[in-house]
Amino acid sequence: MSEKRMVIVTGGGRGIGAATCRRLAAEGHAVAVNYASNEAAAHQVVAAIEAAGGKAVAIQGDTGQEADIVRLFETAERALGPLGGLVANAGVTGPVGRVESITPAVLERVLAVNVTGLFLCAREAIRRLSTKHGGKGGAIVNVGSRAAELGGGGEWVHYAASKGAVDSFTIGLAREVAAEGIRVNAVAPGLIETELHAAAGGGDRLARLVGFVPMQRVGSPEETAEAIAWLLSPASSYITGAILPVSGGR
Ligand code: NAP
Repeated sequence: MSEKRMVIVTGGGRGIGAATCRRLAAEGHAVAVNYASNEAAAHQVVAAIEAAGGKAVAIQGDTGQEADIVRLFETAERALGPLGGLVANAGVTGPVGRVESITPAVLERVLAVNVTGLFLCAREAIRRLSTKHGGKGGAIVNVGSRAAELGGGGEWVHYAASKGAVDSFTIGLAREVAAEGIRVNAVAPGLIETELHAAAGGGDRLARLVGFVPMQRVGSPEETAEAIAWLLSPASSYITGAILPVSGGR
């Protein structure tokens, strides 16, 4: 994205998404901070951006629901002007558990948010950005996971498989829209210090697994946001279809 146009960050209220919103706003982008239910957290992100002189709005919307996604894009453009980029970050793990105890409800929700929702967010972005549709082009960054390759065995194979779909989607979509001014890339975070692990019932997951990280430490949301912002920026202008690990070597 060559100009500082508006960016929608799904799941921008907390964790990696919140750090990404702050990072993009500091670069001069107006940012639509999407969240599911934690209104206070999203408003805190907006307040921090505004206090630093940036422009942002918080927009509630469940990316597991098509109608919410359509409303998110319409509301963001009404408030902040034409779309320039999308960070498809919203994701859920479902509870930690083995495949033999999976329920259709958990599986459906994880796939609805991590896969179907990601596809539909990209659809809305392409309809606005593609030169084929009269748009100016732009960039999409999907937030996958190193779990896609590690597999999540014993913990969350359902989640890992959904992130495998994110990787394939990123590669395929990148090729589909490459000649229409849109770059599509993904980051694959490893162990990043957010509330996601405890919320999944993973307890002290970060402490338990940090020893397997070659760099011997977990990553921060800010370090992940840096990679996302780079993939969204003109600094990565000849890169599309890439899946960039942000994982300390794991
Ligand atoms: P987090 O701290 O749990 O934050 C998740 C954010 O996503 C929250 O703002 C949440 O909204 C929002 N969200 C969840 N479901 C949503 C939905 N259906 N619609 C809209 N927003 C939704 O998670 P995180 O660790 O930052 O993870 C962000 C992304 O990175 C996810 O895709 C995750 O799979 C991926 N990832 C994380 C790690 C890690 O170690 N943390 C590693 C690999 C990949 P509310 O605030 O309203 O709840």
